[in-house]
Amino acid sequence: MRSAEYSMTCVAPTVSVLLGIPAPSGAVGQVMAEIAGDRRAARVALIVPDALGEYAWGLWQGEMPFLLSLHARHSLALRSVMPSITPVNFAAMVTGTDQRGHGIATKHDAFACETLFDVLRKSGGKSAGIGLDGYTGSALMGRCSDLCCTVEEHSDEAVAARIVAVTRADRPEFLIAQLGCVDDTFHAHGPSAPEVVPMLRETDARLERTVGELGALGYVTLILSDHGQHDIPDPPPGGKRGSHGTDSDQDCVVPCTWT
Ligand SMILES: [Zn+2]
Repeated sequence: MRSAEYSMTCVAPTVSVLLGIPAPSGAVGQVMAEIAGDRRAARVALIVPDALGEYAWGLWQGEMPFLLSLHARHSLALRSVMPSITPVNFAAMVTGTDQRGHGIATKHDAFACETLFDVLRKSGGKSAGIGLDGYTGSALMGRCSDLCCTVEEHSDEAVAARIVAVTRADRPEFLIAQLGCVDDTFHAHGPSAPEVVPMLRETDARLERTVGELGALGYVTLILSDHGQHDIPDPPPGGKRGSHGTDSDQDCVVPCTWT
């Protein structure tokens, strides 16, 4: 089922081919032929369950039957760029290059190169970035896209509702959305802790509903993560039980599937 592992920098060139627009000028990644091939799409959505890496996916995929059904048909592994943190890898997804190329260290930084948002705008299309208030999906992706969707209610369900609302109302050709509570839950309990399972089941149901809505509106949807997480075995009292940022496989290898 799995073919070669691609870099996070391959996402932007692949989305560009799907949409029939040029890749961002700084892109260094290759087109993922398994996804784009000779397919073209009027609209593309990237939904990012934040920090759901191969490590957690391998442990818990039985709890996520919808996502597993997608992976049974289409499945690739991607490798995060360094450091394996959220803004750096969301930036890689929309530029096709790593931190040296895109210049993003925090969600507040300015892009040092062209983005998918820019290319789409030049070709007459529009884009949306969606996420929780203060998270990368809104603070970086939304800020640099045409339709900044900041979700005030702190829940991934509210993010999913906003994805559906903005696609119905505005039909952006490209959207990128961050499900940030997945990362929060892994940090709190550790990715291997059974306490994460209720959240993962909810995420799976949420993905099923959202992908269904997007499909009805003509979107090709990619579901991929920005990075993974590893367990912290003996954290200090009140400390995080999951973390990321290193170049380990647990932090860097993430699953990718698509409709
Ligand atoms: Zn993240």
